[in-house]
Amino acid sequence: MKPKIHYTKPSITDLEVSYATDAARNGWGEKCYEYIEKFENKFKTFTGAKYAIATSSCTGALHMGLSAIGLKPDDEVILADTNWIATASPITYLGAKPIFVDILEDTWCIDPDKVEAAITPNTKAIIATHIYGNVCEMDILLAIGEKYGIPIIEDAAEAIGSKWYGKHAGTMGKFGTFSFHGTKTLTTGEGGMFITNDVKLYEQVLTLSNHGRSRNQTKQFWPDEIGFKYKMSNIQAAIGFGQVERIDDLVKRKREVFEYYKIKLLNVDSLKMNIEKANTINGYWMPTVVFDKTIGITRELIKDMFLQENIDARVFFYPLSYLPIFKTKTKSKDENKNSWNIANRAINLPSFHEITELQQDSVINVILKILNKKGI
Ligand SMILES: *Cc1c(COP(=O)(O)O)cnc(C)c1O
Repeated sequence: MKPKIHYTKPSITDLEVSYATDAARNGWGEKCYEYIEKFENKFKTFTGAKYAIATSSCTGALHMGLSAIGLKPDDEVILADTNWIATASPITYLGAKPIFVDILEDTWCIDPDKVEAAITPNTKAIIATHIYGNVCEMDILLAIGEKYGIPIIEDAAEAIGSKWYGKHAGTMGKFGTFSFHGTKTLTTGEGGMFITNDVKLYEQVLTLSNHGRSRNQTKQFWPDEIGFKYKMSNIQAAIGFGQVERIDDLVKRKREVFEYYKIKLLNVDSLKMNIEKANTINGYWMPTVVFDKTIGITRELIKDMFLQENIDARVFFYPLSYLPIFKTKTKSKDENKNSWNIANRAINLPSFHEITELQQDSVINVILKILNKKGI
C-alpha cells in the first residue's frame, strides 16, 4: 500500500505550541481569558467585524445567533440543500424548520431565485453558506433580505480568507459564524467564532454565551435568562491566536494548492473546479472537482479509484434533503436538481498546508485515470 495522502491536516508550528504552553502554565486566575481576548481581537482585525465571540464550535455559534434573533418553533429558515448538517441542526434545536433550496451550478452556493420563491410568512432567516470557500451571491441575497425584512446569516465555516468586493465572508449579514474544527483552514481542534457588526445582537449573544448572565448584572451567579455554554477554553484560544497570526500564510498556501491543481487540470474540459468570480476572493478551503454530467460517473467509482491509491479524497456533501432524518426527500429530489446531481459526480481533493507537488501529482493522476476509464 502506498503511503496515505491525507485530506486535511492542521499546520501547527512552534508559535502555536508556545502560546498553548504559556496558556497551560500561566493562563489561569486573572489571566484565564487572556488568549480568548487576544484571539477575538485579532480575528476582528482580520475579518473587519466589529464584534467577535469565540465559541466551542460553529454549531454553537449558530445556535446562539439563531436564538438571539428570536427563532422559535414553527418558524422557517431557508438554506442550501448542499450543506454540512451543522448548518441545519441548530435550526431544529429551536424547534424551527429548515427549508432546503437548490444551489447554483457554478458556485455550488444557494440559488437566490430559489430563496425568494421559498419565502413564506413564517420565514425568519436565510442562511448563506459559502461552500468550500466559494462566495455566495451576496448582493442579491442582501437585497432579498432587505425587500422582505428577513435577516441574512452567513455560515462562513469554510470561508476564512474568502471575500466579496473586499468584504470578508461573514461580515455582510446580520451575523457570521466560523468553525475551527481540525479540518478547517484555521484550527483550534474544536472551536468556532460568532461575529457581527450589530452591537445589540452582540450583547445578546454575549449574555447567552455566559449562561444568561449579563455583564451589567452586579449580582454574582445571577442568570437573567436561560443561556448556553458554548465557550472556548483559553488553551484552545492560545492555539487560535497563533493560527490567526499566521492566517495570511495559511490562506496563501490554500490558494497555492488550488492553483497547482487548477493549472494541471486546466485543459481537461470534462470537469469544473471551485469558481472565483470577478470581485471575489476564494479562500479555497476545499479544492473540489465536479465531473461533467455527460461522462456518467458515480460517487462510488470516484471513491474506489482514490482508495486504491490510498488517497483520502472526500465525497461532496450529500443533499440534506436526501437524509432520512429530514423527511423532504421526494419533493426535493425534483426541485433541488443541482444539489442532488452534483453530489453524485464530485470529489474534494487533499489540500493540507504541507502537501507536496509530488502528492498533488498523484491526486491529479487519479483524476486523469478516472476520465480515461470513461473513455475521455
Ligand atoms: C465545519 C462546518 C460547520 C460546523 O462546525 P463545527 O465547528 O464542527 O460546529 C458548520 N457549517 C459548515 C458549512 C461547516 O463546514
